[in-house]
Amino acid sequence: MHALVYHGPGQKSWEQVPDPKIQEDGDVIVQVDTVTICGTDLHILKGDVPEVTPGRILGHEAVGTIVECGSGVRFLKKGDRVLLSCISACGRCRYCREGHPGQCLNGGGWIFGHLIDGVQAEYARVPFAETSTYKIPAGISDEAVLYLADIMPTAYEAGVLSGRVQPADVVIVVGAGPVGLAAILGAKLFTPTHVVAVDPAESRRKHALSFGADQAVTPEAVRDVVGDLSGGLGADVAIEAVGIPETFEQCAALVRAGGHVANVGVHGKPAVLHLEDLWIKDVTVTTGLVDTVTIPTLLRLIQGGKLDLTRMTTHRFPLGKAIEAYETFADAARTNALKVVLQRA
Ligand code: NAD
Ligand code: ZN
Repeated sequence: MHALVYHGPGQKSWEQVPDPKIQEDGDVIVQVDTVTICGTDLHILKGDVPEVTPGRILGHEAVGTIVECGSGVRFLKKGDRVLLSCISACGRCRYCREGHPGQCLNGGGWIFGHLIDGVQAEYARVPFAETSTYKIPAGISDEAVLYLADIMPTAYEAGVLSGRVQPADVVIVVGAGPVGLAAILGAKLFTPTHVVAVDPAESRRKHALSFGADQAVTPEAVRDVVGDLSGGLGADVAIEAVGIPETFEQCAALVRAGGHVANVGVHGKPAVLHLEDLWIKDVTVTTGLVDTVTIPTLLRLIQGGKLDLTRMTTHRFPLGKAIEAYETFADAARTNALKVVLQRA
């Protein structure tokens, strides 16, 4: 088969590799039908994730069709269309049982395109298949559910739910990339009075408005806007969806007393937590890796017509054009890309 293989920082190729094989009795092999690229894949290619070693097939967001089942698989069968979550769950360890498979102790968690071969390939081996995949209801397209593999549950769990968005809240979403845009969609399910998106890039601010933000402003303008909307108190919830010290510190500075800062961004450098200002304000700060345990809820919202993620797709390529797709995705400033989709011919 062919797959997108990482060969060390800055190096990747679409090349022929051995077909994946069943290794454990709970595995399935999936034919990848629809797959996308994540900002995290770009971090890997910069060398920011040293656990990913040369020779690794990248990718952790896909929809596919089961072509083979391990001997222990009972509830899935050949021909089933499944969503592959970016998080695998052994289903048995303490964290999986407590609803936190992101922290799985038995070899699950974020493994695709990280610790095992990923899904930017014609076929993929899926461990713990029964507890890590989701059957796709008939009549729902691959693309309609694709973003449930990672970005939508990330924004919903680590942003909206951890941030405890409530009706009538003033919510700021700092960073209007795919994750921030998904946070806007998720926050609006709770009827906040205002969602304010913050992004220095004009094209991203335009996307934010089209995703339902009430206002989209620059980092310099947000303090005054939030002050006006909240009678000077500050935001009820500040969702950080960038992953740099400035944006975390800005969220903490803009939240009201009693409010929530929900950090979603992946940070590579230390950020300052100004406890000298925050201790007296009853502020809650949360962080989190996605668990994807909200996929069933989000899937029902999609089925019920209450959540449309297809507008996230700005570009489509055949699977064999993975290199072109990466180039388009990585050059978002020029291409205006949000998510690029690769489809089996
Ligand atoms: P992205 O790079 O596409 O978007 C980031 C956005 O932030 C861009 O639009 C950029 O213009 C904007 N930005 C840059 N500087 C800013 C500033 N000072 N103020 C406001 N906005 C600014 O990234 P993405 O794919 O949307 O992901 C967002 C973050 O979420 C990343 O850090 C990613 O690694 C992280 N993430 C976390 C999890 C998790 O489980 N917690 C899962 C997936 C992704
Ligand atoms: Zn991802």
